[in-house]
Amino acid sequence: MNLNLKINEKKHAEIGGIDCNDIASEFGTPLYVIDEERIRDNYNRVYNAFSKNYKNFKIFYACKANTNLAVMRILESEGSSIDAVSTGEVYTALKSGFTSDRILFTGNNVRDDEMDYVHNSNVRINVDSISQLKRLAKIINPDGYKISFRVNPNVGAGHHKHCITGGPMSKFGIMEEEAVEVYKLAIDLGFKPVGMHSHIGSGILNPEPFKLATEAMMKIAGNVFENTDVDFEFLDFGGGLGIPYKPEEPILDIENFAKEITSIYKGKLDEYGMGKPDLYIEPGRYIVGDASYLLTRVNTVKQSYRKFIGVDSGFNTLLRPSMYESYHHIVVANKANEKAVENVDVAGNVCESGDLFARDRPLPKIDEGDLIAILNSGAYAFSMSSQYNSRPRVAEVLVNDGGAELIREKETYEDLYTKQIVPKRLLKD
Ligand SMILES: *Cc1c(COP(=O)(O)O)cnc(C)c1O
Repeated sequence: MNLNLKINEKKHAEIGGIDCNDIASEFGTPLYVIDEERIRDNYNRVYNAFSKNYKNFKIFYACKANTNLAVMRILESEGSSIDAVSTGEVYTALKSGFTSDRILFTGNNVRDDEMDYVHNSNVRINVDSISQLKRLAKIINPDGYKISFRVNPNVGAGHHKHCITGGPMSKFGIMEEEAVEVYKLAIDLGFKPVGMHSHIGSGILNPEPFKLATEAMMKIAGNVFENTDVDFEFLDFGGGLGIPYKPEEPILDIENFAKEITSIYKGKLDEYGMGKPDLYIEPGRYIVGDASYLLTRVNTVKQSYRKFIGVDSGFNTLLRPSMYESYHHIVVANKANEKAVENVDVAGNVCESGDLFARDRPLPKIDEGDLIAILNSGAYAFSMSSQYNSRPRVAEVLVNDGGAELIREKETYEDLYTKQIVPKRLLKD
């Protein structure tokens, strides 16, 4: 089992050295609980693995995975930089203490005023299209402004399903065929293009597609280097490092992964004589995914055509199972050691049939009042949550060194309509 699951002597699930049942009693459910030390460990595992093979290495944490300000502060204090995909994330990063040089903005279908905001914030823009480049040249003074381009390293789309954000069906990036022309155009317009970026997909446990993409992007970068005046300051290979969601899945061998990627990188730099530009990667899920549990209480056990375990949260709180049919490992936190005795459906409280956390899952005998821990809920979990069904968003707690601190209050009913305006003529007098 590699799911960051610990069980204490009471046979209760623990996170960050704290009994899940105690946290649930103190703060109520549903509740996200985040383990600070695990985030720091995950960050340092990647950082050490890469930097010992290549010194000029930087991690740009992809903060769309989890933008809680405390999480951002933890990563800022570790020395991370930030991959921001929206102006809101740029704002959040700046507010969390990241200086502008530690933020890279990789937007998609970006508005002019958004580019203006990023430029005014002194944050570098990673440009996704020729259209965006030309619009950027019109709204700012390009003189010497450092930019990079996202390219689509069109690799093995048919062979590796994880590469689909890098294949011919992907909306992201600039094609290999137009790369040289685009960098030349950027220089002609007055920009200083200094980087290249790609991001091929998410949840990669097998390094092969990432290696192929690294080779493919280095070929594009080498070609740009040889045919233009671009001197690369950085090459950014995006995120996508996976974590196991199922107990039987392997973990990504990060030591080996780093060795292989840096070896391809160094080999290609030498081949083209490109010097020693910074190597960036942008993990999101790998840093925060297994550092958090969603705790939710069983309130209904129902034998219908199937057996349903009904809990007090739903896809408004954790969307991944409904949206991606993702597997999340489920542990009965107050019976963490008990063997599975039956297959059940774990169902949320949203009024939709698709609101299931698990279908046909072997679990111990579950009673009303039991506490469910949904593991690996640190990435794309709270950040994708909503108020659907008019449910206020839930609280988040950070555990560290045996203590638990509230880092986000749960929303109130008032929060459901603070920004709404009812026209006067509709008000009841
Ligand atoms: C989402 C995203 C990432 C992070 O992906 P993970 O699978 O969470 O590592 C990195 N870079 C960009 C540009 C992204 O959009």
